[in-house]
Amino acid sequence: MPRPILVLGTHNQKKQAEIAALLEALPAEFRSLRDFPDPLNVDETGTTFQENARLKATQQARHLKHWVLAEDSGLAVDALKGAPGVYSARFAGPDATDEQNNQLLIEKLQGIPWQKRDAHYVCHVCLADPQGNVRAENQDICRGRIREAPAGTGGFGYDPYFELREYHHTFAELGGLVKKQLSHRARAIRGMLPALQRLMTSGEWSVS
Ligand code: IMP
Repeated sequence: MPRPILVLGTHNQKKQAEIAALLEALPAEFRSLRDFPDPLNVDETGTTFQENARLKATQQARHLKHWVLAEDSGLAVDALKGAPGVYSARFAGPDATDEQNNQLLIEKLQGIPWQKRDAHYVCHVCLADPQGNVRAENQDICRGRIREAPAGTGGFGYDPYFELREYHHTFAELGGLVKKQLSHRARAIRGMLPALQRLMTSGEWSVS
């Protein structure tokens, strides 16, 4: 029996690795966008994580004619009224690097005391079938605070500045194993596993 194929709909290699590790127990064959000659670069025109995750999953699924799991994620900082939010990847500009985004974040939080630097990561994950219908979705968060100085070398994006609540270390310090248990992405995807398992074993998955 061929295994059901699931395409991980992200161009971000670090995210892709984290998602693949979270799904490893599923009876599926995983593909990345790199396995296709002409994947879409979906415009993230939504104003919420849910809207953007749905756009990425449904448009890519229809285009590739495969089941696609996509997510939209970002950092919401209380003192910045939820910014950078859905604009986390392009906080400092359309092609901003992680370093540029982090620098802008730290500038904006300058002078704000530790007790007022609360933030949380958000991840919305969405599964679309090859016809572009949303078949399952879930959202979860991970709470922490934004440090003034970076620490650690793991992870990506804002991880060197994001200190996990009650752990007193940043995600960049804690590394992949801890992130795999506690991150917003881990929680959101774990909540999707029963639905993924059910769909993959329902016999419906091969229909495209
Ligand atoms: P997206 O690709 O539009 O969903 O943008 C996600 C952006 O949010 C990334 O480029 C990072 O800036 C930020 N982000 C999301 N998840 C994480 C994470 O786990 N660690 C650090 N930054 C993250």
